[in-house]
Amino acid sequence: MGMFSTVWARDLECPRCHHKDDYDVQIKFGGCDLDEFEIGDALRWGSYDYGEQGHHLVVTSGYDRPCRGCDGPHDPAEVDTSEFDVYIENDVIIHIRWHDGLHDYQRDGVPSPTSDFIVLRERPAFLTAT
Ligand SMILES: [Zn+2]
Repeated sequence: MGMFSTVWARDLECPRCHHKDDYDVQIKFGGCDLDEFEIGDALRWGSYDYGEQGHHLVVTSGYDRPCRGCDGPHDPAEVDTSEFDVYIENDVIIHIRWHDGLHDYQRDGVPSPTSDFIVLRERPAFLTAT
């Protein structure tokens, strides 16, 4: 049927209240036939595709729910606290974090009626400091 894929973010810690929980974040990027992924898994393409194939690094928006500990972690007046940023490098899901406004899908997103994503030239600083 194809609508979205789910990426499990396990034991994700809220940056505000430090509550840890599992989130099943729904994305629309890659082949989206209700697949379930873990971080580190590779997307597949070929049916119910959303977004664009062939980019080295993209960030796409995903949705689940706010933190159960604090309804955050961010001020809901500023960002949607149910929204996540999902980083995909060479078609591998490498990282998920709460959307905090670092990426502006309206401003920088690739125009697409089906998927919000941004092509990045390099990893953001928090992903390079290892
Ligand atoms: Zn919290």
